[in-house]
Amino acid sequence: MNSSAYQWPDGKKAAAIVSIDFDGPSPYLWATRERPTTALGELELRRFGPRQGVHRLLELFASFDLRISAYVPGAVADAHPDVLAAMLEAGHEVAIHGYMHEKVSELNTEELRAVLEKSARALEKVGAERPFGYRSPSWELTAEALGVLAEFGIAYDSSLMGYDHPYVMSGIVEVPVQWQLDDAIFYRYVPGSNWPPVTPGEVISGWKTDLEGAKRFGSLFMLTMHPWLSGRAGRTLALASLFDEYRSDDSIWWTTAREVAEYHRLTYGDMHDEQPRIGEI
Ligand SMILES: [Zn+2]
Repeated sequence: MNSSAYQWPDGKKAAAIVSIDFDGPSPYLWATRERPTTALGELELRRFGPRQGVHRLLELFASFDLRISAYVPGAVADAHPDVLAAMLEAGHEVAIHGYMHEKVSELNTEELRAVLEKSARALEKVGAERPFGYRSPSWELTAEALGVLAEFGIAYDSSLMGYDHPYVMSGIVEVPVQWQLDDAIFYRYVPGSNWPPVTPGEVISGWKTDLEGAKRFGSLFMLTMHPWLSGRAGRTLALASLFDEYRSDDSIWWTTAREVAEYHRLTYGDMHDEQPRIGEI
């Protein structure tokens, strides 16, 4: 199965999914769980996401009539039920992203099972319905974790990069991500590092090239943004220019990860089920 062989519905040349990882401060709280600090800087930086960034992005999506896929840690859903209700009301997909953004490779299978159950309950509490899609925090997975996800009955996973169109791994539909379509690698500034964030114009220009590439090679353009990063004023404005140019392009299927996973399952079934081979080329 190579990329040029992938057929999108209705003769579309490519699929595009806009996704957000609505993390708030959860990754920081998980990373510092054993040694909590009293420092406010990083917490406030990330709290900008739920306070302002997410609203700005949701308004932008609404203005372009875009339905997106939102990956939401259960703790964030518990803390911001109003935002989650607004997402569901707007027709966006809400999917699992851990409870406190737990790194899967640091959990045993029992712990992962408990986290999935707790996350699903939090999303159900705000009105979302099973089966949920899943995106692993920090995009890390293990062979054991794939087994737990399958047993849990998730609709699909969106954490791996083995192809740039949907595929199947261990019986689970994978709706793949790509690092260069993740805002964090361009916009996340780590204080003290000698690495200034990339300007919004450069980032959006790169993403436009990726969209053209997706059309040329028939691949999936999976954009991943974090409201605390992409919800900043100039970045949101630059993002609008991408939608201005491409949202009405009829050769692109603008959709959600859940719909792409359903399409793949119906069209390709379990064809070419990849196995999680470790230690092999
Ligand atoms: Zn995340």
